[in-house]
Amino acid sequence: MKRIIYPGTFDPIHNGHIDIAIRASKLFDELIFVVADNSNKNPLFSPNERIEMIEDSTQKYHNIKAIHYSGLIVDYAKECNAVAVVRGLRQVSDFEFEFRMAMMNYHLYPALTSLFLMPDEKYIHLNSTVIKDVARYSGDIEEYVPEKVKKFLIAKNFS
Ligand code: ADP
Repeated sequence: MKRIIYPGTFDPIHNGHIDIAIRASKLFDELIFVVADNSNKNPLFSPNERIEMIEDSTQKYHNIKAIHYSGLIVDYAKECNAVAVVRGLRQVSDFEFEFRMAMMNYHLYPALTSLFLMPDEKYIHLNSTVIKDVARYSGDIEEYVPEKVKKFLIAKNFS
């Protein structure tokens, strides 16, 4: 069983994340979204809400799962016997942060391979913060997120 983990904040999941997850899930037996706590961000959605949106958005892919984890990603990788971790790369500006994190992860757990994938170019500009901003002002987010996520964003009723 070759398992890959996909850590991130996913606040909320959008079509760019899903594109990466589907691509990676085809290369491995199982992909696990790891919904992480992020001290630099103040998430709009609770971990359970984020997991519910991920599960609903990926339900037709039977080898994709989602969990919440508060500790170090490498510790979860050891716990679940993952052989790799995937991250998405959109543009050059993502590289520096991802490079530092991959190097740190190699120091902490050399057996875990870091894998970087690029999404289809139609998703390259997407990020959760911009989507929340558009939703906050009632802009159209239809083509950026699955239906369930759209409903969750509307239900937050930003006003
Ligand atoms: P972070 O983990 O930095 O809090 P996110 O939860 O937004 O960020 O993203 C999780 C992972 O998904 C990261 O590897 C990020 O680069 C990737 N990602 C985010 N947006 C996109 C996108 N539009 N296309 C492809 N990958 C993306």
